Amino acid sequence: MTEIVREGALGASHPAAIPVLRPLLPDAKAIAPYLEKIDASRIYSNFGPLADEFQGRLAQSLGVAPDFALATSCGTSGLIAAILALAPSGDGRRRLAVMPSFTFAATAVAAERCGLRPYFADIDPVTWALDPERLLKCPVLDRTAVVIPVAPFGRPLPQSDWLAFEERTRIPVVFDSAAAFAVTEQNPASHIGRIPSVFSFQATKSFGVGEGGGVVCADPERMRKMRTAINFGFYGARDSLMPSLNGKMNEYSAAVGLAAFDRWETKLAAIGRVASLYRARFAEAGLAERFLTWPEIDGSYALLRAADRGEREALMGAFDKDGVEYRLWYGEGVHRQTHFAEAEHEELLRTEAICGNLIGIPVAPDLSEDSILRVVRAATSVSGRIPVEGLRRKGTA
Ligand SMILES: *Cc1c(COP(=O)(O)O)cnc(C)c1O
Repeated sequence: MTEIVREGALGASHPAAIPVLRPLLPDAKAIAPYLEKIDASRIYSNFGPLADEFQGRLAQSLGVAPDFALATSCGTSGLIAAILALAPSGDGRRRLAVMPSFTFAATAVAAERCGLRPYFADIDPVTWALDPERLLKCPVLDRTAVVIPVAPFGRPLPQSDWLAFEERTRIPVVFDSAAAFAVTEQNPASHIGRIPSVFSFQATKSFGVGEGGGVVCADPERMRKMRTAINFGFYGARDSLMPSLNGKMNEYSAAVGLAAFDRWETKLAAIGRVASLYRARFAEAGLAERFLTWPEIDGSYALLRAADRGEREALMGAFDKDGVEYRLWYGEGVHRQTHFAEAEHEELLRTEAICGNLIGIPVAPDLSEDSILRVVRAATSVSGRIPVEGLRRKGTA
């Protein structure tokens, strides 16, 4: 794979753009054995054997019994099932879902699909997540049906602090841990427990199956309700018992998921390699502290922190000029998105400050050294403490 079109190929030195994210899922060969099992079983969905096996591997990698994992059709459907199970919307006065605005739109979308209205609370400047301690003073708690903290860019949430919040307030908590599977797996004990953790296995997350998700929760009663909610409200009999949806994982996605587990160690090693290369280059450029990626956050994100909004604009300009794609993953916050602009929120000073200076830069398990160097050079041309020339000499290897 050559990402830089060499001089001459296009007549001039015209580098091909480096995509901000190039997902890498198991190839056809890796998936084939599982597809053959589907051909043999002729079970295609409805809690089939592959989804069951996938749940087992999910549970195992997060250190819980197989019954504590539920495979879902995507992260959003997992969130909806968890909210429906824990916070039935029938409770008249409690119609709000408290969540950060510093997230992907799906958090708010899921709450809305459950008949709740998002209320955006500000984040902690260090963890970039909701602060359970501070939230105790949130003025809308008596109207709140559920709190949905988000694991920012996949940095997992502390189970014990949020359990304490639940006990104090009696308000159920659902973790939007969509991007957090990989980091959680490194130390599941502090992050997995009674509070459901909802994961996304969307292709762009580091553990991807295409479209898919999972919920892990160490509480049998909550699991039973979520299993019911994800399948038309059925539990055993064909009798709809509760508000629900169809959010089950089908056997084909489970096949990809199982192949992804087979290759997971190799993929994580590749992600780790890209992370170290990036770190080394940013360190040489004097920008180590500005850079964030795996294993602090999910390997599907590489983030550069600008000093302020002005520098972010300058960085985006430099990236545009050098053919480096970038993405503002959480945009300016969900409260800035058209559909959610009318939603209630508190003052979101920290959210706005942090959103204003974060840029997602290119990342992929097989991102080349050349590409990494090009990204770092472009960043250094704006923010570097050492001259770009110095870096260029070092980087010709
Ligand atoms: C990816 C993501 C989701 C949505 O997951 P899907 O599997 O795409 O439905 C939800 N919340 C956050 C924070 C995400 O990053």
